[in-house]
Parts: sequence; structure tokens; C-alpha cells
Amino acid sequence: MDIAGLDPAVVAAVERETSELLSRLIQIDTSNPPGNETAVAELMDRWFREAGLQGEIVGEPADRRSFVLRLEGQRPGPSLLLLAHEDVVPANAADWQVPPFSGLIKDGYVWGRGAVDVKNLVAAHAVAVKRLAAAGAPFAGSVTYACTADEEEGTVGGARWLVEHRPDLMRCDYVINEGGGHFLEHAAGRIYLVESGEKGTAQFRLVVHGEAGHASVPLRHGNAVLAAARVVEALVAHELPVVVDESSRELVELLVSDRDLRARLRDPAAARGALADLAACDPRLADMIEPLYGFAFSPTIVQSNSVAVNVYPTRVELSVDCRMLAGHDEDEVEAEVRAALAGVEAEWDLEWIGVIRGNASPYPTPLSDAIRTVLQRYVPDAELANSHSVGFTDSNWFRAAYPGIVAYNFAPHIVESYDDVTSRYHNVDERILVRDLAFQALFAERVALEVLQ
Ligand SMILES: [Zn+2]
Repeated sequence: MDIAGLDPAVVAAVERETSELLSRLIQIDTSNPPGNETAVAELMDRWFREAGLQGEIVGEPADRRSFVLRLEGQRPGPSLLLLAHEDVVPANAADWQVPPFSGLIKDGYVWGRGAVDVKNLVAAHAVAVKRLAAAGAPFAGSVTYACTADEEEGTVGGARWLVEHRPDLMRCDYVINEGGGHFLEHAAGRIYLVESGEKGTAQFRLVVHGEAGHASVPLRHGNAVLAAARVVEALVAHELPVVVDESSRELVELLVSDRDLRARLRDPAAARGALADLAACDPRLADMIEPLYGFAFSPTIVQSNSVAVNVYPTRVELSVDCRMLAGHDEDEVEAEVRAALAGVEAEWDLEWIGVIRGNASPYPTPLSDAIRTVLQRYVPDAELANSHSVGFTDSNWFRAAYPGIVAYNFAPHIVESYDDVTSRYHNVDERILVRDLAFQALFAERVALEVLQ
């Protein structure tokens, strides 16, 4: 698809510049752990200096730094932050068609780890900011560019550190970050997903206690392994309450054409059954909506403290991943665990592994209006659907640190759809179409001009 309304020479130049920069970024292996993101911060520092722009390499520890650059506009006004992370998840080269850190450009794609998650935005936002600077920063307020360390693990530095230690650099009115921007083809047109919020995590460990003893003697009561099995079964069988909130409402409204099904999907009492009906006709949409209905318990690790096969353990640990919608907290999760395990023959304690509450920005806002306006210039039948991310992004730290901030996850593709792109996240043969990459740069540039008036 041509990017309608754009000078082909401009598109070609932006394609060249974004793909060349993305290729160089992919060649820097920032697999997290250990990250080593400072090399990316240094590359971006050099790249901007060559364009006459000066930013700051910032953060700690020394090998996990971020890069931030602010461009002041021509008059006072609101501030927009273009955010992306420098680190990537590890890649096993043997499984890939191309070396994952080659940054190869072939068949119209840039290939490699980080091509869609999310060095594409590190490159696209940089080109957008450079073009805005070259045009004389013709906007009100300011645009800040940030590529930050340690998103995938989120344990040491990066955005979490920056919002706390450098509000002078990071505090802003609007944030555009990775996450949304994928489109679904629908009878009414293209529906672009914009994520205004995120689920939180409430990961916990259930420690199941038992009696020690020689395993040659059957221990029907007090065998922690049997008790742990009962606990897992009860947890997974437990029917969790359905929450219908703004994270699923527009998806249902815009994408479910059957009126009766739509009504049932909005009714918490009928929603589970309706979801099964939806899965029968549109499994992809059902998969998108199910995690937005509230908590889910996913047991992932089982460990016992027995070191010999002939000894009963006194302790079996079950690690459980649990995500909670914005506005909910770990006390509600614990209450559901207790309800699920009431009456189960097992002695257990709950320990939290990690809790980060989900959060959300208001919607709609001038930022979503600007996103829609710019998008419809190039995709006239595009409509936005507000939703929440079921995973985690750095937008969470910004909303938590700066109440009232509007942070949306939105990096639009214009050629490849949701199905094409989302399967590549954290997967083999990660790649992005050069045309989509260039569109992300041009889109960021134009949204900045639209919202900073
Ligand atoms: Zn990411």
C-alpha cells in the first residue's frame, strides 16, 4: 500500500534512514539479561550529534544507561514524550532463518531481535525527532525522545529509575509508547487498537506444607506433593468473577457484529458463556477479550524441597502468574485464592513474588484525538478502539509516578495487520516491513505536530 498523501520521495528517504538505523540497533545485542543497553544509548547519542542535536546519556548502573533528548518548540505548550526501550528478549540463533542480531534487510523487511519489540520505535521516534528539528521545531511545548534500559525484566534501571530520579527529564503531559497500533480488518473499516492502560501483575507462591518420611511407606495424609496437586486443580477450576470495564468495552462494541452476543459479552453474569460462543465463531477476538475480563491464575513452576526420590518433601512451592486489571489490587487476588482453596485438603501459605498494580490513563483525550486525526489522513476508514495491554510496558511507571499523565501505547502499522505482527513478539524470525517502520516515523512526527499546537 502506498502511504496516500505523502510525497514518495519523502517516504523513500524515511524508509532508508529508519531501516539503516534499525539495522545498526539490532546489531547491538541487548538481550536482557544482562542488557548492556549503554551501547545503544551511545549509538543514539552519536547519531543525534551528527544531526547537530544534543541529548543526555543517563541512568545507572554504568552498563544499563538510557538516552534522553528534549526538543523545545517555538512557544510554550504541552509536552510529549516519545518512549521506547533499548533491551530485547534473548534469541536462540539455531531456530531462526537469519542470524537474530544481523539486522539484515531483505524482502522488504528489517530482520532481527527487536525489529518489532521495540528497536523499531527507538529508530522511528529518532527519525521523527530529527525531522522535527530540521523543520525548525514548528510546534508548541516540547518533544522528548527517550530510549530506556531494562523494560523486559524491569528490575534495575530504565524508565522506572528515570521517572523517580530524573523528573526534570521525564515529567510530561503525554507519552506515546510501544504496545498498540495494530489493526484488525473489519466490515466497518480498519480498527486500530490503542492501549490506554495496562493490567498489573500479582505473582505469588503457594507454599504447601507436608510431613517428612520414607517414601517406601505410602503417606496419604500429609504428602505435600499430593496436596499441591489438589491445590493446582482447585485453583484452575475456580470460577473467577468477570469484570467488564473500558478495557474490553470498545473491542466488543466495534468488533462483535451480533447484537445479542454483544449484549451478553457486556453482562458480567452472562459473559463467560458468551465468550465460549464468541470463541466458536471468532477465536482470535475471544482470545483478546478473555484476559480483559479480570484475574487469571496460571501455575508455572512446581518445586519440592526433597533432594531424594525416596524422601517425602516437607515443602512444595507452586509459583503462579496472575494479572489484574487496572484499578484492582492484590487483596482481591488473595481473597480469590482463599475462596478457590476453601475446603481443599492442604496446608498452605501465600507469599507474594511480585506485585505491580495496573493503571490507566483517561480516554478520550487530545492525544487520542490527534492519533485519530493523523491516522485518518492516511487510512480514511480507520477507527480507534480503546483497550488495555494484558502484558506490561513502561507506561505503567509514568502513570504511577505522574498522576494525570496521558500515556498511550500506539505504534501503527499501515501494511501488516495484527495477526501478521503480534505473532512475532518474543518469537523467531522477528521482522518489520520497511514500509511500516517508515510509517511509524512519519506518524510520530505528525502526531507531535497535531497534539502540540
Ligand atoms: Zn517491548
